[in-house]
Amino acid sequence: MPIDWMPLVDIVKANQRFVLTSHVRPDADALGSEMGLAGILEALGKTVRIINPSASPDHLAFLDPEKRIQKLGEGVSVEQACDTDVHIVADTSAWAQLHDLRKVLEKTTAKKVVIDHHVSSDDLGAVEFKDTTASATGVLITELAEALGVTPTAAQASALFSAIATDTGWFRFPNTESRTLKTAARLVDLGAQPSVIYRELYEKSSLARLKLHGRILSRVTVEAEGRLAYTYVMRKDFEETGSHPSDTEDLVNDCLTINGTQCAFILVEQQSTQFKCSFRSRTGMDVAKVAEQFGGGGHRQASGAMLPGPFAKALETVLGAMKAALPPQATVASEPAAAE
Ligand code: AMP
Repeated sequence: MPIDWMPLVDIVKANQRFVLTSHVRPDADALGSEMGLAGILEALGKTVRIINPSASPDHLAFLDPEKRIQKLGEGVSVEQACDTDVHIVADTSAWAQLHDLRKVLEKTTAKKVVIDHHVSSDDLGAVEFKDTTASATGVLITELAEALGVTPTAAQASALFSAIATDTGWFRFPNTESRTLKTAARLVDLGAQPSVIYRELYEKSSLARLKLHGRILSRVTVEAEGRLAYTYVMRKDFEETGSHPSDTEDLVNDCLTINGTQCAFILVEQQSTQFKCSFRSRTGMDVAKVAEQFGGGGHRQASGAMLPGPFAKALETVLGAMKAALPPQATVASEPAAAE
């Protein structure tokens, strides 16, 4: 359902100070949407701060060249984050994805707004602008800019293009539709350069990241007559290869390149004894429902959740849930690769 932006246009007109927030372990849709939206609001003379629950990964630093994105607790307190007129949460509406930012959202007297495209949703006490048919939050921000009468600059267009390109797996996931491509084309007309953005995103890999990928891909295991593939990453893998947790991004999608796989997951050991699980499906199987069993969420074809360790227990639990969610063999509708 296309969003009626008028209530948000009115909120923007009536207020001066804005705080933007997105989810933990921010990806390019989170950061690109925030940077695009910040610029659009500033073009209207608004004061904008971006405060996230976790730091931006190094490989996405190009999205924030002036390092304006702050991490809560590092130079900005809960009280300071509360000191605003409007708090906009972009690209999530799940408490589990907001970590310590929850304290701000529970305490603030600011007007709260959510702009999101995820199916899973909690009541954050916000006015929701949600369109689960949109391929990326970046699409929604571009449409909001139009409703606000602001033409994004080349820098803002690049940030928004990055958001859309990454959440659609560079326009190859089934969430890529004509609306996605039209929005991307508009952003290119405004100055986004796909070849430059692609290089920034995918061709600045470190040797450590490549070595991590080799190690993790060598561990891929298939189950359920080849319909389910999975792998895992332990903390010592990062230490031994010199890589970083954000270097695991996209690894789960590689599991789906095996002919005959319908779904996949990856378990990534966290600083705590927990495991972050990323689920993917390329059939009608709804992995958001699987993630929700563990307090997580996301989309039908791409979701995530946090599971307690130890590893053997987490693996057994997830394997059981994924096998139970697999549709009976005969009824599988074949659809292309997973979306994020
Ligand atoms: P990831 O596995 O981190 O690539 O996430 C896939 C999708 O699921 C993304 O759209 C995330 O925003 C969403 N997601 C991941 N973890 C969670 C969670 N704990 N709760 C709700 N949504 C999640």
